[in-house]
Amino acid sequence: MAQTSPILIVAIDPVDRSLLAPLAAPLAGTFSTDVEVTRAAPLDGSFALNVSRNQYGSTPLISALLEKFEDFRGRILGVTSGDLFVPVLTYVFGEAQLGGKVAVVSSHRLRDEYYGLAPNPELLHLRLLKESIHELGHAFGLLHCRDYLCVMHSSTGVEEIDLKTEKLCADCEAKIFRAGG
Ligand SMILES: [Zn+2]
Ligand SMILES: [Zn+2]
Repeated sequence: MAQTSPILIVAIDPVDRSLLAPLAAPLAGTFSTDVEVTRAAPLDGSFALNVSRNQYGSTPLISALLEKFEDFRGRILGVTSGDLFVPVLTYVFGEAQLGGKVAVVSSHRLRDEYYGLAPNPELLHLRLLKESIHELGHAFGLLHCRDYLCVMHSSTGVEEIDLKTEKLCADCEAKIFRAGG
């Protein structure tokens, strides 16, 4: 497998920073590349807060990460615990630049507590990993996949995230590595 460009994981406040480190090894495996959690200060996401929605705009966060890491030659995964939205949708689990440099994901609606259930840290980590791979997959140029087990299958609710695996199907994987990352 050809080496793809490295991935930098960046905290976006407000964020539970303990969520970041466990993503590094599985992302490195999936994308066959170096993955690091940045030691730089978190990005302060407060500028992207829409007060009336009490949600953070994912698109302005992507722009801010692009600017902050202008000189980084690789891809950026921004992770926040704030609730994300794009203007046309009630919420998003994440957003990415298709075939671009930056992806962002939120843990907000991946927590069982959000649905009135008891906390389930292991499930939260797995859901966050799936959504991180999914959004980075878009940054690597992948579109949604019809294989319902493939991590690139589209998910609008946590039930759908739980149904798919954290793996890229053979077709999606081939597309990334054929493109050379
Ligand atoms: Zn998607
Ligand atoms: Zn696929």
